[in-house]
Amino acid sequence: MITTQPFSVQTQERVSFAADLVRRARGTVVLSGAGISTPSGIPDFRSAGTGLWARDEPMEVASLSTFRTAPERFFAWFRPLAARIYHAQPNAAHSAIAELEQSGRVRAVITQNIDALHHKAGSKHVVEMHGTLRTITCVECYTKGESSEYLEAFVEHGIIPRCPRCHGIMKPDVILFGEQLPQGAWREAVAEARTCDVMLVVGSSLEVLPVAGLPLQALERGAHLIIVNNTSTYVSVRADVALLEDVALVLPSIAQQALHG
Ligand SMILES: [Zn+2]
Repeated sequence: MITTQPFSVQTQERVSFAADLVRRARGTVVLSGAGISTPSGIPDFRSAGTGLWARDEPMEVASLSTFRTAPERFFAWFRPLAARIYHAQPNAAHSAIAELEQSGRVRAVITQNIDALHHKAGSKHVVEMHGTLRTITCVECYTKGESSEYLEAFVEHGIIPRCPRCHGIMKPDVILFGEQLPQGAWREAVAEARTCDVMLVVGSSLEVLPVAGLPLQALERGAHLIIVNNTSTYVSVRADVALLEDVALVLPSIAQQALHG
């Protein structure tokens, strides 16, 4: 069987250089965005033209004020996204990052995603900047629960999750537009960015502040920067390696070379 190398010579060289940086680093920190989950079938809901939500503007419907005033509108909008996430499996990029963590090459994953696919792939130290769909909280009495108890009924039948104690509406622990980032996660992300010696950005266009500023904090402390994303970013010109490639193809190659030379 003939195996075809999917990359150009130039890309192969960049992959090798990135793998070398990760192999020599004391602590690599991954920063992941929506682009790592699109190969798993989860569209980037902030991007225009993804199709699923043509009728509604995410900034409006996925906002805290809509959730408070018209929760059924929020849940109607959220249902197709929740369904995609409910059925999604991690892809080769998530698995490569988990493998790098298990072998001690990656010490933390900072993610802008709410889909928990890093956890599903086996990553342990995940800092979720925009919250998570894994857990859910009553807006009335703050009772917490596992989303898994409510997700199937919601995804399959549209049943809005209700609190078992007070029957209040349960809100997924995702950060809506108009909500503050979780302070603990933010402090942890900044600390990781300032102390890593390699930051590996995967599938983020670095357009959403303040998370988009983390690579600059890493660079200012002398870290190397690797960016794998299908479009260029504001900080790509300052990266040691910038790969405009499919994350699910590139990350396994970087991990393979970093771990097995
Ligand atoms: Zn309650």
